[in-house]
Amino acid sequence: MPPTPRDDFDALAREHRADRFHDECGVFGIHGHDEASHIAYLGLYALQHRGQESCGIVASNGREHTAHRSMGLVADVFHEKNLNRLEGRHAIGHVRYSTAGASLIRNAQPICVNTDGGPVAIAHNGNLVNAGAIRRELEGRGAIFASTSDSEVVLHLLARSREEALEDRLIDALSRVKGAFSLVCLTDDALIAARDPHGFRPLSLGRLDGAYVVASETCALDLIGATFVRDVDPGEVIVIRRGRLRTLRPFARQETEYFCIFEKIYFARPDSNLLGHNVYAFRKELGRVLAREHPVAADMVTPVLDSGTAAALGYSEEAGIPYETALIRNHYVRRTFIEPAQSIRHFGVKVKHNAIGGFIEGKRVVLVDDSIVRGTTLVKIVAMLRNAGAREVHVRISSPPTTGPCYYGIDTPTKEELIASGHTTEQIREIIGADTLGYLGLEGLRQVGEKEVKRGFCDGCFSGCYPISMHAGETVPQLSLFRALEEEPER
Ligand code: 5GP
Ligand code: MG
Repeated sequence: MPPTPRDDFDALAREHRADRFHDECGVFGIHGHDEASHIAYLGLYALQHRGQESCGIVASNGREHTAHRSMGLVADVFHEKNLNRLEGRHAIGHVRYSTAGASLIRNAQPICVNTDGGPVAIAHNGNLVNAGAIRRELEGRGAIFASTSDSEVVLHLLARSREEALEDRLIDALSRVKGAFSLVCLTDDALIAARDPHGFRPLSLGRLDGAYVVASETCALDLIGATFVRDVDPGEVIVIRRGRLRTLRPFARQETEYFCIFEKIYFARPDSNLLGHNVYAFRKELGRVLAREHPVAADMVTPVLDSGTAAALGYSEEAGIPYETALIRNHYVRRTFIEPAQSIRHFGVKVKHNAIGGFIEGKRVVLVDDSIVRGTTLVKIVAMLRNAGAREVHVRISSPPTTGPCYYGIDTPTKEELIASGHTTEQIREIIGADTLGYLGLEGLRQVGEKEVKRGFCDGCFSGCYPISMHAGETVPQLSLFRALEEEPER
């Protein structure tokens, strides 16, 4: 019997474990503005939710690059002095988050090199599934890599390309990589933006005072007062030089695209528009469908802030149950904090969330979140609601069970760590201590998704249907797998 797509992919993924870099990132680029580095800083500020570990900006004065990269948040890393040092009318920037293993300053982006064609810097969002294979091949021929990031292979391939113009060398490099890329590239005088043919990650184009701007999300355009022009198309390469925009389509447009549905469910900011549709409205709609799929008699609907907010509102409206913020969130929590030696029960989660005492007493609560990863958040929050006197706690999740990792740029842990990969919904309900647990069904998600994402999306983390294989050069014919799976659902 042939392996199911899921088994086949897992075997490949295990084999290529070392190639998996879980980068969550945001990118920004601006061309032709007197305050380029300052605008890039603001753009990154709006994209901070896409990566909180390191950030960087590279600016070009038309001849040479200056860069500043550091671990930390945009607001902490940049100040007037180092921004003023980033001279020139063109700049790109990056925010990055990765799991501990690869959390190194040498992995911070943009990555800069000097080539025989001048300075080149790139900032990349997404994950290249064949980066490891290409890297081994290049290392076998003497290449030396400075980081452990998958993005660096693009620069190596670019430097080795026999093409003349830097944009052609970049295209040459990108034609060899497989997976997800929404990237911006800065040369001495040009800004280049490119999106992989499958369109996994978002990338939008805007204009500001005659300058061109590209950003992972439209919320960055809003902050700087830029007007939205359009999304960069999957497979498109945009070259901006001397105030002129040229669009190239070197990669054949795919019949099916694979926009990441998790961007819409959780990752993107609710005020952004993805593929022309508002993220907040999408999440509310998921909440409405969730209410129809998993109704329950209750006194209030409350979100796990902030990620569950829009879905909880949709659930509340559809179910006719009042929306309350019964849990308050501290917005100033950093990723690490000093724990008291004498351990306080559930200290970690209490730093971030607290139930409003008295308010919940004797109430039946519907608790809404966007997803369950390891389950640790909900174990603690359900207990917190019970300690506050909740009579019943009904957990509702506005996405299907997360059963597999993401190979294209979302920081989900390994399959073993995902609670839904080894447990049934009933077992998870028991572990988190809820009275009932309801996940949005895959069908429900796909129906809402198809209304906005007309050319297809990737829901591999829920369905196990991964569009691009880990094998270098091999693309799984996703369309037929997709259909086969739908006709013959997995048990
Ligand atoms: P858990 O406690 O189950 O491990 O994590 C669940 C929480 O993590 C949810 O509230 C969800 O909003 C959030 N979450 C889901 N996916 C991601 C992700 O890829 N990155 C980060 N930083 N948080 C996530
Ligand atoms: Mg959350």
